[in-house]
This record gives sequence, structure tokens and C-alpha cells, in this order.
Amino acid sequence: MLANWHIVRLGAFFNLRLIGSNGKFFHIIPHFHKSYVRRLHRKCMSSIKDRDTKPEMIVRKIVHSLGYRYRLHRKDLPGKPDLVFPRFKKVIFVHGCFWHKHMCRYGRVTPKTNAEFWSTKRESNKLRDIRNRKLLKEMGLGSLIIWECWTRNSKKSIEDKLKMYLQS
Ligand SMILES: [Zn+2]
Repeated sequence: MLANWHIVRLGAFFNLRLIGSNGKFFHIIPHFHKSYVRRLHRKCMSSIKDRDTKPEMIVRKIVHSLGYRYRLHRKDLPGKPDLVFPRFKKVIFVHGCFWHKHMCRYGRVTPKTNAEFWSTKRESNKLRDIRNRKLLKEMGLGSLIIWECWTRNSKKSIEDKLKMYLQS
């Protein structure tokens, strides 16, 4: 069986990539590599995707100032939305542009080291986001994504977006 597989990539830190005769990819990532990636991941995530990251705080503050009350990080909902408005049947995600592959200059950044690995990882985040929003929709919940890059620009335009979304 393994004879059908070809090693197509011996990447940084020895993660192997095999490709089968059926065109399927298969990754072999040894434990030390995984823990290296986990560490790196945690390091990045802690600055970007921590619970009270700056972009999320900005969004919360605006929503609060508009007079809306919300619940945070409902773990029982697909994708654990950042803000939940049970009465309005709406949720808001505050997404980091890099991790969720926004079509902006921050989201299009390609890391030089292990580029393919990160690209796969981020692509799967993106697909998961689409899946989660679909699930939420099936549950009768509307969802809105506020992108991190928007929070770097005019607060007014986010305010308008939030108003429009929450009032609709
Ligand atoms: Zn962006």
C-alpha cells in the first residue's frame, strides 16, 4: 500500500508529505515537529486570538455604546461566536485577518517558513468559518464578521455596519 505513496516533500523540521497514486495527500508530522508548531501557534494565537484581543474589545465597546447587550463566547454555538445576541438571534465574529484569510493585505501575508503548512492551516480555518456560518443559519441565527483590519480604520464605519446589522 505504502509503495503507492511517494514522498513529495521533506519539509522544514522533517515533516513528510506523501502523495498517493489516487492523488491524496498524507502528512507525517513527528511529535517534536507538532510540539514546535503548537508552541509557535500558541505564541501567535496569544497575540491575535486571545479572548480579549484588542479588535474584539473595540467591537464590544461600540456595540455597548449603541445600547445593545450581548453574551460572550457561547461555547455551545458553532464557531463559538465572540458576541451573541440571543434576543435578536444574531451573532458576531471578530476575526483576525491572518488566521481567517481575509482578502486584505494582512490576510494575504504568506509566512516564509513552512509556507505550505500555514497555508493549509489557514485555509482550513476559512472553510470551517464558512461551515459554521452555514450551521448558524440553519439554526436560525444570523452572523456577521467584523474583520480586524476594519477596527484599525474608522470606528464610524464599523459603527454603521453594526447598527445596520443589529437593526435589520
Ligand atoms: Zn482584513
